[in-house]
Parts: sequence; structure tokens; C-alpha cells
Amino acid sequence: MVTIRTLCVFCGSCSPPDVRYRSAARELGTLAARRGIGLVYGGGRAGLMGELADAALASSGRVIGVIPAGLFSREVPHRELTELHEVASMHERKQRMYDLSDGFIALPGGLGTLEELAEVSAWSKLGLHAKPVVLMDVDGFWDPLVTQLDRMVSVGLLAAANRQLIQWARSPEAAIAALTGAKPACAETRITAGQRQQGGSGSAPDRHEDGRAESRGRNASGG
Ligand code: AMP
Repeated sequence: MVTIRTLCVFCGSCSPPDVRYRSAARELGTLAARRGIGLVYGGGRAGLMGELADAALASSGRVIGVIPAGLFSREVPHRELTELHEVASMHERKQRMYDLSDGFIALPGGLGTLEELAEVSAWSKLGLHAKPVVLMDVDGFWDPLVTQLDRMVSVGLLAAANRQLIQWARSPEAAIAALTGAKPACAETRITAGQRQQGGSGSAPDRHEDGRAESRGRNASGG
């Protein structure tokens, strides 16, 4: 059982014309607020991100935005958030978002969402964190990605155990349930923030490598 106090949400900086996408973002924001779960997200006003944040704030939720200061003139920060963290770079933004959160939900989005989802999942696979990741679906949006992940397993490019690091859910309730019910990913191979700052090696590199081989590599092909 994983306790989710703060949830990081990746989602589009645009709003598709189909209202179901906006509704899903708003429903997730409202549910998180009602459950007392704080949100972390990209800090913008636009698109699904703005819908998510506004809905959570309207239900008295805690919302933290993380935005690169002055990097993009088109990126308009949301000024009514509980906290707005201004960081120096995109890399620092993602690191801060990941560090502040206990789990991750990807709503539909574009390349930015895909990048964040792929990175946070790859970091889980590598043992850099043990926080659960869930795709929250709207109208089959994530189906092609789910098919692609399964194909990675079938051709031997992704270990079946690592495939399970990315779960899928159809509603905000199911997505949060999947996060809290997730087995902590590679708990025994987890490395500390201090070790990560030293390049992921730190004081116990053997344990990390051995643990990963033991928990993930046995009987599994792929990465
Ligand atoms: P995209 O899916 O390409 O629209 O990118 C959205 C994701 O990337 C979000 O989860 C944000 O963390 C980040 N992002 C991209 N563009 C923006 C923006 N204009 N404002 C805030 N965050 C953004």
C-alpha cells in the first residue's frame, strides 16, 4: 500500500475540443482535493493543466506549480496556486516535480507529457525512485501506447516486470486506487537522493546492481 499525499500530474498544455478531456482533468483535480491529496504539476494556466489546477483550487485543494523562470515567454504561470516554484531549467523543473511527489498520473497530453511519463518510468526502472505511475485514460487515448509497451515486451526490449511499472486506469477514482494499491517499485533497489546526486552510484553501488538483477532480471528478457 502506497500513501499518496502529493500527486504529480502530467497533462497537456492545450485543451482538445472534445470536452471529455477537460472534464477528466477537472474531475481528477476535484477528487484529489476532496481526498486531501496535494497536486504538483507544470505550473501553467493553459490547457488541461489549467483545468486540473483550477478544479483542485475550487475545492480548496493544495496545488504546487513548478515552472522554469523566464525560459519561455509563452508559458504563463498560474498565480493563484498554493505554491509556485520557479526553477532555472527544464531539467530542474522535472526533478523538482518528481521529488515533491509520491506518485504520478499522466492524463492525455502531447510531447511534454510523453517525455515526462517516459522519463519518470525509466527512472523507476533504474531504481532512482519507487513511486507508482498510472496512465489515466479518456476515450482510449492511451491505447496505442499500451499496445506499444506490450510490443516492447513481446519482442524482448522491455522486461515483463518493468512493463508493470506503468499501470492504466479509466477514471480518477481508479487511477488513485491504482497508485495506492501499487506495490512499491523496486523497493529493495531504491537509491537515495544523496546517491543520485553522486551520479546514481553512492555508497552502496553493489547493493543497487545486485538488487536490481535479483528483483527484475531473473527469467526476464528485455530492459
Ligand atoms: P504537452 O503535453 O506538450 O502539452 O506538455 C505538457 C507537459 O509539459 C506538462 O505536464 C508540463 O509539465 C510541461 N509543459 C509543457 N508546456 C508547458 C506550459 N506551457 N506551461 C507549463 N508546463 C508545460
